[in-house]
Amino acid sequence: MSRVLIVGAGLTGSICACLLRRELPNTFNIVVWDKSRGAGGRMSTSRSPSNPKCTVDLGAQYISATPYYARIHSSFYEELLAQDLLKPLVEPVEGMTYKEDGILNYVTPNGVSSIIKHYLNKSAGAEVLHNRQVTHIYRKDADWEVCHKEGAPERFDIVVLTMPVPQILQLQGDVVSLMGENQLKELRAVSYSSRYALGLFYKAGERIDVPWVAKYFSNNPCIRFIAIDDKKRNLASNDTGHSVVVHTSVPFGVKHLEKEKDEVQNTILEELEKVMPGLPQPDSIKCQKWRYSQVTRSVVDCPGQMTLLSQPLLVCGGDGFTHSNFDGCVESALKVFEVLKSSL
Ligand SMILES: Cc1cc2nc3c(=O)[nH]c(=O)nc-3n(C[C@H](O)[C@H](O)[C@H](O)COP(=O)(O)OP(=O)(O)OC[C@H]3O[C@@H](n4cnc5c(N)ncnc54)[C@H](O)[C@@H]3O)c2cc1C
Repeated sequence: MSRVLIVGAGLTGSICACLLRRELPNTFNIVVWDKSRGAGGRMSTSRSPSNPKCTVDLGAQYISATPYYARIHSSFYEELLAQDLLKPLVEPVEGMTYKEDGILNYVTPNGVSSIIKHYLNKSAGAEVLHNRQVTHIYRKDADWEVCHKEGAPERFDIVVLTMPVPQILQLQGDVVSLMGENQLKELRAVSYSSRYALGLFYKAGERIDVPWVAKYFSNNPCIRFIAIDDKKRNLASNDTGHSVVVHTSVPFGVKHLEKEKDEVQNTILEELEKVMPGLPQPDSIKCQKWRYSQVTRSVVDCPGQMTLLSQPLLVCGGDGFTHSNFDGCVESALKVFEVLKSSL
């Protein structure tokens, strides 16, 4: 059996693993490595240090299905809805704009990372390892030698890279030198927005009384979006405290990208006090820097994947090759899957 390494346990990597297991059983020995402690990537869910039931989504907030994608990815939506991993967003979001009619918004009752965990669980038998940061990839005759920070290099027949494009370009070894001139040019042109996210965890009993579950701010230099995350996900209970997520604007994110996290956190909290005066003191706070948040310019014509070498196979995917949302990742994973299937 061919040994496949999928780098990245975000949405693209987890769907790739699931498709390979489901559609081509007993064909690949699947290994997934991610540099983070947990699954999710930019669809991560964080827990309060004092109450694991109090959770907050620091990246993606809801899944928005346009009529086109609801139709072509219906099997993905139906599966997640049937398992109660997606529920319709029913509560009011102030300032939300719709690019087209008929968009359906869904929330994830168990946190957005539950989607990624679902796909990894459905990749039964795949070896999923966290705290594995890939640093170098070398071509060794018919296969790849992949080095990571934590131990000895390993050999694979096929490698799939699903991290943000700038992180692909940072890999050492043979990856960049294998790229054609055009490929390198296309990848270097991919860009992402940057922003910070604060997760605020509250003790049970603290009240947050606002007439919305989430709100967009259009004229604030620091804050772009706030959600009372448990209410947004329809979870509000008396036993568990509220959780709040604050996203900064992109200009604020870019301006403060290289600053100390504590300093940035204090600035965001000062602004938060201005827009939500009287918000109780949180029990704990998590500050997340999204250096690569959402794709602002993807690979030309959104091909879904880019094959850097076909023998041995090295292929890239992720939202940089489509667009930054659930459907962009599904589209990319399907394209990567087709490449692996046709390599057999
Ligand atoms: C603030 C924010 C808000 C968003 N809002 C929405 C929304 O409301 N709705 C929506 O649908 N989408 C939203 N998105 C976009 C969505 O989250 C992304 O499009 C999607 O999560 C991308 O998934 P991915 O698997 O392609 O990449 P990622 O999630 O980035 O996964 C890549 C993985 O690779 C790992 N990795 C990176 N480098 C290495 C390495 N060297 N070795 C090993 N592992 C590595 C990372 O740890 C990561 O887990 C939002 C994103 C952000 C940041």
